[in-house]
Amino acid sequence: MTVAASIAALDRIRTIVGLNGLLTAPEDMAPYLSEWRGRFKGNSPAVVRPASTEEVAAVVTICAEAGIPVVPQGGNTSLVGGSIPYEEGREIVLSLSRMNRIRGIDTLNYTMTAEAGVVLKTAQEAAKDKDRLLPMSLGAEGTCQIGGLISTNAGGINVLRYGNMRDLVLGLEVVLADGRVWNGLRSLRKNNTGYDLKHLFIGAEGTLGIVTAAVLKLYPRPRQSETAFIAVPSPAAAIELLARLRAASGDAVAAFELMSRRCLEFALKHVAGTIDPLSEPSPWYVLTELTAGTQSDAFRENVEAALGEAFEAELATDATIAQSETQANQLWFIREAIVEAQKFEGGSIKNDVSVPVSRVAEFIERAEAAVAAACPGIRPTPFGHVGDGNIHFNLSQPEGADTAAYLARWDEICHVVNEVIFDLDGSISAEHGVGRFKKDEMPVIKSPVEFDLLRAMKAALDPKGLLNPGKMLP
Ligand code: FAD
Repeated sequence: MTVAASIAALDRIRTIVGLNGLLTAPEDMAPYLSEWRGRFKGNSPAVVRPASTEEVAAVVTICAEAGIPVVPQGGNTSLVGGSIPYEEGREIVLSLSRMNRIRGIDTLNYTMTAEAGVVLKTAQEAAKDKDRLLPMSLGAEGTCQIGGLISTNAGGINVLRYGNMRDLVLGLEVVLADGRVWNGLRSLRKNNTGYDLKHLFIGAEGTLGIVTAAVLKLYPRPRQSETAFIAVPSPAAAIELLARLRAASGDAVAAFELMSRRCLEFALKHVAGTIDPLSEPSPWYVLTELTAGTQSDAFRENVEAALGEAFEAELATDATIAQSETQANQLWFIREAIVEAQKFEGGSIKNDVSVPVSRVAEFIERAEAAVAAACPGIRPTPFGHVGDGNIHFNLSQPEGADTAAYLARWDEICHVVNEVIFDLDGSISAEHGVGRFKKDEMPVIKSPVEFDLLRAMKAALDPKGLLNPGKMLP
């Protein structure tokens, strides 16, 4: 495309979205061209911020006609470079942040219809105002948006009980690559009329269409919640404890997070407000939340009894159950502080992986041994939503090591971890997606048949390859 054609297309886009909706000054575009960790940076002729589905459709139509590639962007928190254009500066960024209306909440149907740019926290609060629960919850909830959550099939802390985004979406509205709008905003729990198209767009990372709105499932708000911080001798004990707690509580475990002592120590050292809730150090801890639909003393007694049995079976060595919401928040603060703390310990190589829940302990043991052999002194800080098999297998640099030299080994060390993952039939991306970061692994992790199917879908829905090119699929 010539520069003149590109300028003409941007002029047309300006007439659609107005001055407010089109950013071209470098200082205005800067926040949209790099992400949280600063690992991925890009360039773009413009950031377009449409305010309605009609505007998105018109912008995408112009881009399709002019051959301009489009990178959809939500809260820009996914950390794998999917929402950032490439350095060449050919793609425009299409930010959904002005599409931020909650179109409606149907309390009897337990559903919410929200536009793509609604921030998760806003959606959670809107549901709460109607005495309903939107169970999606994660560390970036003050920034990430419904469209980004859907496009990465986000998980978070409550997957164990309520599923991931794929389980929470009933309907979608999507602008297709040629600018047509697919109105699939159905709020049905049963609909057996052919292929379920919405699932194509969930987890597609903006490569097949632009999500503009969604119908999300809501749930009754729990009336009772018990939060416990439990010292466990090993990951294997943690997983056994989870199975017992699920059975003993009538599957009331909503969240189950594992963390190593090193994770807690980093948080205590670097993040003000972190507490060590137990008197004696333990090599591993579990932070769990069990919720019930009704308020009763029996529920708490049941949790206490299950923990008592875990002590007898030597699956737990110490525990505290929060006595108030403030105490529960203090315990959850530890989990958030762990994420924050790692950057103060030098380079941290991230692996966000999953294995079957029953193989979590084996994964941690084997992966720790493998990375120690590859990089003596490396400091693993495994933590995460192990209730659904997801481990953030983060690796802090050896003490005193050169950070740049350590981070230069990122791909090599991730590969060591991935080998263990492949061996255990796990996934190298449990959350966040593939983006730019892991796209080169796709031909390795997908069979030729699966890879062909992915390519066929891309070709069918985006024949010109203009939607988030070079992301997810190499
Ligand atoms: P973005 O980062 O803006 O975009 C993500 C991808 O979706 C990109 O490929 C983008 O092109 C595409 N996209 C965005 N909007 C649209 C749209 N409307 N239509 C089509 N494509 C679109 N993730 C988890 O799953 N679980 C966690 O527990 C979790 N914890 C996190 C904690 C922290 C502190 C941080 C920083 C991130 C965490 N994440 C987690 C990752 C991130 O929050 C999620 O991936 C989230 O879903 C991204 O949403 P977003 O709006 O920021 O999307």
